Amino acid sequence: MAIDLQPESTKPTPDDLIAKDIHDPQEKIRLPKGQHLPHPEGINEKSRLLWEYIIPVIVFHLAIPLAFLPYFFSWWGVLWLFVGNFLFTSLGVGAGYHRLLTHRGFKCPKWFEYTLTTLGVCSFQDSPGRWVLVHRVHHQHSDHRPDPHTPRVSAFWSHMGWLFIDNVELSKASAYDRYVRDLMKDKYYLWLQRGQKWILVYFIHAVIFTAIGVGVGYLATGTLAGTVQVGAQWALWGVILRTVYTWHVTWAINSFAHMWGYRNYETREDSRNNWLFALLTSGEGWHNNHHADPRSARHGHRWWEFDLTWHTLRFLEKLGIVRDLVHPNKSALDRRAVNESDAAA
Ligand SMILES: [Zn+2]
Ligand SMILES: [Zn+2]
Repeated sequence: MAIDLQPESTKPTPDDLIAKDIHDPQEKIRLPKGQHLPHPEGINEKSRLLWEYIIPVIVFHLAIPLAFLPYFFSWWGVLWLFVGNFLFTSLGVGAGYHRLLTHRGFKCPKWFEYTLTTLGVCSFQDSPGRWVLVHRVHHQHSDHRPDPHTPRVSAFWSHMGWLFIDNVELSKASAYDRYVRDLMKDKYYLWLQRGQKWILVYFIHAVIFTAIGVGVGYLATGTLAGTVQVGAQWALWGVILRTVYTWHVTWAINSFAHMWGYRNYETREDSRNNWLFALLTSGEGWHNNHHADPRSARHGHRWWEFDLTWHTLRFLEKLGIVRDLVHPNKSALDRRAVNESDAAA
């Protein structure tokens, strides 16, 4: 998609660029039991099915049964699911797209920012510009109708349905201008966005990763058959299955972490802390904490809310790569803490 900034269009307010919730914090969303919100306003007769999303998602899922064939099965491959999840998705999407680009929860040199966001591109979860735009709108209107992926429409919609149909309100140049003007001024992010070159970057990383697997196969077996088999295992587990796995754990934050889990804070939307997906996403699942204090780079607030991404950022801070980490705003959070007796009721 070609994105041209439109100087004449509505200028972004500071709230647009920091993903601030613009609704009354005291407001409680109530929907009569059994009723659902309609799709966002941007889903209308002009919306088209996004085959560029639908086809890869179907094809990648169709590859799952191969994992159970002895030829393709590999314990190293299983390990790559988790290592790849941390490297490409926790660092790339969690730290890069989310805590850095969307919420500006820390500072770092440009080379490191681009390293993180390029890892994020290799998670095949859209360009940094598009991802951040959708997420800033999510924070601004969480669980209200403009929210691109609220479970109040349906659980399936929030998990993956929203990806497959064009939300025309979010595809307009004016939406990029308003919500991600900061990123669209950056030549690298604009380059990734124009002509969907982020898909090309994902494809190149898949080829490089598979080539490394081929090299490992040759060194380990010294035979053509062994080289081909190990290369195929790396491509299947390290690229395709890892991508499917990280899609679902990331999507689960939009679906499960707005439906199931506990709340530490009174927020006006449905966000929840979900321990399972917090574990699988290295901390993103502490989602009620995150909605209560979006700028904080630390999502785990209680001692047992393990947030591996935060600890990694702290380590990088000690190395001098990351600085100005935004810590939870304790006094503001204390005012919003869920009363223990209310929570138990
Ligand atoms: Zn949310
Ligand atoms: Zn966020």
